[in-house]
Amino acid sequence: VSDLAGRQVTVAGLGVSGVPAARALRGLGASVTVVNGSDGEPQRAQAAELEPLGITVRLGDGATLPDGTELIVTTPGWKPTSPLFLAAAEASVPIWGDVELAWRLRGTDAPPWLAVTGTNGKTTTVRMLAAILEAAGLRTAAVGNIGVSLLDIVLGDEPYDVLAVELSSYQLHWAPSLRAHSGAVLNLAPDHLDWHGSMAAYAADKGRIYEGNQVACVYNVADPATEDLVRAADVEEGCRAIGFTLGTPGPSQLGVVEDLLVDRAFVADRQKQAQELAEVSDVNPPAPHNIANALAAAALARAYGVPPTAVRDGLRAFRPDPHRVEHVADVDGVAYVDDSKATNTHAAEASLGAYEHIVWIAGGLAKGATFDELVLTAAKRLRGVVLIGADRALIREALARHAADVPVVDLDRTDTGAMAAAVREAARLARPGDTVLMAPACASMDMFTNYNKRGDAFAAAVHGLASGRVPDD
Ligand code: ADP
Repeated sequence: VSDLAGRQVTVAGLGVSGVPAARALRGLGASVTVVNGSDGEPQRAQAAELEPLGITVRLGDGATLPDGTELIVTTPGWKPTSPLFLAAAEASVPIWGDVELAWRLRGTDAPPWLAVTGTNGKTTTVRMLAAILEAAGLRTAAVGNIGVSLLDIVLGDEPYDVLAVELSSYQLHWAPSLRAHSGAVLNLAPDHLDWHGSMAAYAADKGRIYEGNQVACVYNVADPATEDLVRAADVEEGCRAIGFTLGTPGPSQLGVVEDLLVDRAFVADRQKQAQELAEVSDVNPPAPHNIANALAAAALARAYGVPPTAVRDGLRAFRPDPHRVEHVADVDGVAYVDDSKATNTHAAEASLGAYEHIVWIAGGLAKGATFDELVLTAAKRLRGVVLIGADRALIREALARHAADVPVVDLDRTDTGAMAAAVREAARLARPGDTVLMAPACASMDMFTNYNKRGDAFAAAVHGLASGRVPDD
């Protein structure tokens, strides 16, 4: 820690990660300059907060490397190709993300990290893992990309036995010395390619989570790219590759046998081939993608030595975060499910796969995605589709190509009230026993501030429907 005292550190970016990083660095005695390309009202307010601490804030120029910079600490928004970083590379100045900083500042008897990444399911898996660790009586917290700054945890006074850490591909990119106790890559699908430059670069950054693992590298048997990343990693001696599968597990795997989650990797009792962990119905909700998340969480917890009963108790205690395949209400025998967090096609494919007869509400900002594969896999489950949002034509065209007989209502709207209209249309298309699933496969920012607001609008419309009051649009 002491070696940052007196050092010239440049923080790239303000905001929820830049401001705490600048404060922490200043607290450690570094000489801190924060640079930020934009120079608006919010940035000035943050600057006014930092300057009295003796921190220099340079607004309106995020490209020039401040003289004398010995280290850059970056926030996640900055691309590797940012001019500031190119200048830093030229001057051989190291670049750390907030996770790297936290990792380096942790004390000697710091709690080990059980780390989770993947394109989808990170937050859910980390919360399940924390619930399992808690059920085992351990002092723990779900931290990292989930919205709890690792820096605050590492520099705070609260003692922990072990941490459940969510890491984004950005954070992993800038965390070269991180060495987790055990790590998991849940799945890999194209996302954020504009930041990483290519799928290979994105995968390589995700794979960094396995580097230096001590006990287990947890991978998804159904997603061989995750196992490839384990093979490519340089791990501690004795560290094992542990797979999770929705099928019958092989040795060194966790999986499902009939309606039980079972562990064949960490079986203490030599008489036994497999250790029962929990029932499938203990997973909330028991959809296939979520059972996979539960198995990944269980694998990390078991790698840490947690007993089977704690896996079961933790999974039973777990409550999903809102807007992630959340059952809102049943109206006239139809289930209404909010998966607003399905902001990409890979996520939507998971929830569409979980129901038999679906009226699908979709659309929003496509972020460069194509929809053919998603529509092809979902086609036979679709009772109907209601489209909203800016890029709905892309989905409509894919439906015309691969599911021409499925009725489609194109609302041709991008105003906030469109969600209520979409729910009404969906109710018309649905039959008793069906599920109306709002899993847009797109980002929400064309119509809403974020996916939470989109989910809230859906829920409000459903409750309106249930009470017979049709909300205004
Ligand atoms: P993340 O933190 O990676 O964004 P979340 O746990 O918040 O993941 O889930 C985001 C969305 O991804 C959910 O709404 C769900 O539709 C989908 N999802 C969750 N787990 C998985 C999974 N294992 N595979 C595919 N999609 C998933």
